[in-house]
Amino acid sequence: MDDLKILRQQLKKEQAARRAAEKQLQLIQKTGAQSEATAVAPTTETRFRRFLDSASDIIYEIDLDGRFTYANPMVVCRLGLNRLEQVLGHHYLSLVHPDDRSQVADFYAQQYHTKTFSTYQEFRLATAVPEPVWLGQNVWLAYQGDKIVGFQAIARDISKRKKMEAELQAQRDFGQQIMVNLGQGLTVVGADGLFEYVNPAYARMLGYTEAELLGQDPTTFTHPDDLDALLAAHNQRKTGETTTYETRLVQKEGGILYALLTGVPRWVDGRSAGSVTVITDLTERKLIEQEILHARDHALELSNLKSQFVANMSHEIRTPLNGVIGMTELLAETPLDDEQLEFVEIIRTSSDALLSIINNVLDFSKISEDKLDLDMQPVTVREVLEEAIDIVSPKVARKNVEITYVMAYGAPTVILSDVGRLRQILVNLLSNAVKFTEAGEVTMTVMNYEHQDGRPQIHFAVQDTGIGIPQEAVERIFQSFSQVDASTTRKYGGTGLGLAISQHLCKKMGGQMWVESNLGEGSTFNFTIDAVTPAEYMPESLPILPELAHKRAQMVDDKATNRHMLARQTEVWEMLPSTAVSSPEALAGLHEGRPYKQLKPSSTSAARILLAEDNLVNQQVALSILEYLGFQADVAANGLEVLAALETQPYDVILMDIQMPEMDGLETTRQICARLPEGKRPYIIAMTANAVKGDRERYLATGMNHYISKPVRIAAISEALAQFMPS
Ligand code: ADP
Repeated sequence: MDDLKILRQQLKKEQAARRAAEKQLQLIQKTGAQSEATAVAPTTETRFRRFLDSASDIIYEIDLDGRFTYANPMVVCRLGLNRLEQVLGHHYLSLVHPDDRSQVADFYAQQYHTKTFSTYQEFRLATAVPEPVWLGQNVWLAYQGDKIVGFQAIARDISKRKKMEAELQAQRDFGQQIMVNLGQGLTVVGADGLFEYVNPAYARMLGYTEAELLGQDPTTFTHPDDLDALLAAHNQRKTGETTTYETRLVQKEGGILYALLTGVPRWVDGRSAGSVTVITDLTERKLIEQEILHARDHALELSNLKSQFVANMSHEIRTPLNGVIGMTELLAETPLDDEQLEFVEIIRTSSDALLSIINNVLDFSKISEDKLDLDMQPVTVREVLEEAIDIVSPKVARKNVEITYVMAYGAPTVILSDVGRLRQILVNLLSNAVKFTEAGEVTMTVMNYEHQDGRPQIHFAVQDTGIGIPQEAVERIFQSFSQVDASTTRKYGGTGLGLAISQHLCKKMGGQMWVESNLGEGSTFNFTIDAVTPAEYMPESLPILPELAHKRAQMVDDKATNRHMLARQTEVWEMLPSTAVSSPEALAGLHEGRPYKQLKPSSTSAARILLAEDNLVNQQVALSILEYLGFQADVAANGLEVLAALETQPYDVILMDIQMPEMDGLETTRQICARLPEGKRPYIIAMTANAVKGDRERYLATGMNHYISKPVRIAAISEALAQFMPS
């Protein structure tokens, strides 16, 4: 804007100078005419010559051939010449820039032919300097009488103005170029609130031509529901603030365009005068966002379906597996020859493996859904350790491997944790350790541990003397479905899920899992978990088991440490330990005729038991186990049948499946509780597959007395019934 002002002043000056020059010329002409007519005294002419010679403009005359007849010294000066003689007599066009010559020649030829008295023309001079020298030139026809005899000219150097004009134009072109080529829309709104300028991109966005939009009110193209936002932005800009907001614009064809608008207020002489706004088309982004949201919903839906499917499938697979496991267990108890026993053993280990795979897959799907919840209860660490060892001990029995555990002094004894999940981690690490160790030891160590942030934790380490893990595979084995190499599956089986699940469980329990291993030298799997000791639990004192007191126990172990450790433990229970280094030695001791206890019940109990189970295989398994344990039971296929049976005779115990057609186990229990007063109700034992966190509490709250999970095992049913009949 400043440049424009200067330019305007420059132009004014030029015009004033031109007017002055015009007057001078007319004066000269007049004087010339008079001097011819009346022979005025030479002093006057000399006066004028002096005046012309000192003028800062170029003043000259040429004849009709175009040759200089007069030139003031300024010509020489402007052209960078030395003497007037270099000009006088020469053709005026030789001083014009070659590029402008023909145009200038035509222009003055035209003036001559049309007898235009006065003209103004701008052109460049032929100079040696690279910067062009521009002249603005006034030319009059010179008459003698009524005959044109030549031209008289006053010219002024206008290079400065020309240069400024060019610069200004370049700036304008630059700005224009940006606005025109901008991918974003750009609009300028005047003080009247109407479009003063819109760039092609904006017009394109809305589907109008630029001309159609000029002079229009922007509100016309705003979605009616977004007018408030537009108005708010408008008012905000009046206070001088820049505004940015999202809005919907309405296209010529009625389509909706999502746009981001950034408006900057315009100020003229301290007053708000509209705004300049940049418009970014967000439609594509919005669509992509919507697509992403849609895809996410879809993925969630799929993933829900998937976990539902996995849950259903594992439930479906468990039921027949329940049959296989239960019947195998029973079969093993019948008289079998060695070969048959071996076959049964294979069926048992295979079905156990299958069950563990199904459990892993179910856990894995819960983990990927982040649906795995912990059931925090007080847990006696020693008990979990021993349970875990019990579970893997059949596998150990077949190998030359020993399992021992050491609880370091000060290790927490009772912690708040999820006992099932902790056992799961331990069993997984222990069975891996046993699986990958042909001979040697598996040692479990439990220590006190403190998290960096001071949280009390417990540290478990499972050390083996097995095949070890190559360094490059250490990271990989914690990933799901991943093993050291392909040969692992061939040789040892497994799915590569155990460690991934265990590690996830550790993290969920506030800790971490890592491994230290050397190929061929064995591995140590470590993990930590949060271990808050519940306030009501005192520091450990080993439980005294009265039934063990004064009983003899023999420790058979080739390792002195183990023999001593076990012996001391049994002494705490007031047992009478003796030790043996080898089996022959131990057998020698046994043959001395010491009595042993028969564990299997021998007579049929009189307890009245009702089995509520809809699945035929499961019915068969449970009935057979009950029979094996010395019980007989009636069967109901659903809740309604249970209620009907209770009408005809009282039952002491109901083994109640949860999922049943017609009426499920929970509802049936509620009905029983509503119908029968407390002392008259049967003892209800819930049976269910894949129980989730809180189920146990829910069952007990409904009025059930005990809970066992499927596949049902001899031990579990026996234990549950023992609770009912402690005698
Ligand atoms: P799986 O045992 O079902 O294959 P895991 O996730 O429990 O799955 O283990 C993954 C792999 O890690 C195993 O296949 C084995 O290659 C390696 N691994 C785990 N524990 C041990 C161990 N104690 N000694 C050697 N290798 C091990």
